[in-house]
Amino acid sequence: MNNNQHLSMLDSTRAFLASTQKMLIDGAWVQSTSGATLDVINPADGELLARVPSADETDVDRAVLAARRAFDDSAWSRMKPTDRERLLLRVADLIEANARELAEIESLDNGKPVTVAQGLDVSMAAQCFRYMAGWATKIEGSTLDASIPYSPSNAFFGYTRKEAVGVVGAIIPWNFPLLMASWKLAPALATGCTVVLKPAEDTPLSALRLAMLIEEAGIEKGVVNVVTGLGRTAGAALARHPGIDKIAFTGSTPTGKAIGRAALDNMTRMSLELGGKSPVIVLPDVDIDKAAEGVANAIFFNSGQVCTAGSRVYVHDKVFDRVMERVAAIAQSLPMGPGLDASTQIGPLVSARQMDRVLGYIKAGRDEGARAIAGGARKEGAGFFVKPTVLVDTDHSMKVVREEIFGPVLVAMPFNDIDNVVAKANDTPYGLGASIWSNDLSAIHKLVPRIKAGTVWVNCHSLLDNAMPFGGFKQSGFGRELGRAVIDMYTESKSVLINYA
Ligand code: NAP
Ligand code: MG
Repeated sequence: MNNNQHLSMLDSTRAFLASTQKMLIDGAWVQSTSGATLDVINPADGELLARVPSADETDVDRAVLAARRAFDDSAWSRMKPTDRERLLLRVADLIEANARELAEIESLDNGKPVTVAQGLDVSMAAQCFRYMAGWATKIEGSTLDASIPYSPSNAFFGYTRKEAVGVVGAIIPWNFPLLMASWKLAPALATGCTVVLKPAEDTPLSALRLAMLIEEAGIEKGVVNVVTGLGRTAGAALARHPGIDKIAFTGSTPTGKAIGRAALDNMTRMSLELGGKSPVIVLPDVDIDKAAEGVANAIFFNSGQVCTAGSRVYVHDKVFDRVMERVAAIAQSLPMGPGLDASTQIGPLVSARQMDRVLGYIKAGRDEGARAIAGGARKEGAGFFVKPTVLVDTDHSMKVVREEIFGPVLVAMPFNDIDNVVAKANDTPYGLGASIWSNDLSAIHKLVPRIKAGTVWVNCHSLLDNAMPFGGFKQSGFGRELGRAVIDMYTESKSVLINYA
């Protein structure tokens, strides 16, 4: 079938890939009504990996109706929190029991190293279900004594209830397909919602495999539906569907805005996790080697296809040359190859389109005067590989500094004044993440509140924990995922007032 054939793979992965892929609507595995399919390409060699149904508005409508029925009428809607918790824990166990297969599927579909897929994507997906399972029994409102002035002879007792928001439409990107599916499904199920999930057209496979595990866990039909298809057809149909109560989206800022506008027409609740151009600030007291390793990881992890990727680095001019020389050396040393090869640290980009987009940015950078001290080109041969690239001689007038590239491309700039670096760090429409590299406690604590970003890391970057809220300032999004905060995104608050006089 393809060049990855020589790389070792579980029999169960081969069997999954060889089977006819169908999507899950109302407990049935189905083709699209139109019969249309989408090709799923292996980015490591450009070969066909699988075909999935291409859903259109009719399919989306069926899935939304199924989720609506399941929310309004099924046993799911009356289920006790402890039973929802038990089901989610079972999903977590099943993800772990099938970890290697899920990791291989993710690696083949997205391109990422299988070691990363297993150690990070799959294990964090399992942990996400386990963490959210715990919330199922901890959703609570508050009680209050009301004093209503124009009704003095009555006595009142008030309380609030958190109720599941209803049918959730979840639209996810291709950079962490299984994990993003889990970030939406786990809180939705913990709160008692039902879901229609649309994975990205480039990486639909792990969501389909996850849906099988959700079925196996015993979650009843219609509660979770997965429609594979294009964003502009299936995704758009989901976002504007009046039967959806909440849209949960992760992806680019332009698509997030389009989805937000469509959702607003129906007052559909929304959470939007969008793009970023996250700054990395290296102060002069750092250990050069440690800081350089941190800077390189911040951008090159997942081939730079990370919403919080540290894609702009500002290094104090006392250490700029030494740090950037070391970052360039690391960039040139990272082994590139197919994800299934255990020695690979840099996989291909997800698609030919994404590779062309990233190469277009590198060219634009050079045209505007930037200089590559590492990478700057694709790796010749099959697959969509772009070499880890470090650009210097850059400034804020350049497209490569201002726009989200979503690839292994770092732009580096020196600074010598804290006020100036704060202004530069915040000179972006985005505000998703940032990191500070230093052991100067006073400088760090002064900097943290001045950075406009949903997460500020210190001496680390892009590390996430299920208990910590995650989301963006400014055009990086709307709402927070994970932690206690996510429960509010999947519930409505109902106020109840009782006159007991
Ligand atoms: P995208 O358009 O934001 O796609 C994300 C998801 O939204 C996919 O499932 C996509 O479906 C769907 N979608 C697209 N158009 C839609 C619409 N009009 N209505 C409803 N859903 C829609 O991202 P992309 O096109 O794959 O990538 C383009 C750029 O976005 C990247 O280069 C990168 O800069 C950025 N990006 C950012 C993130 C992030 O996490 N911040 C993630 C992915 C991409 P399809 O798969 O069919 O397009
Ligand atoms: Mg693919």
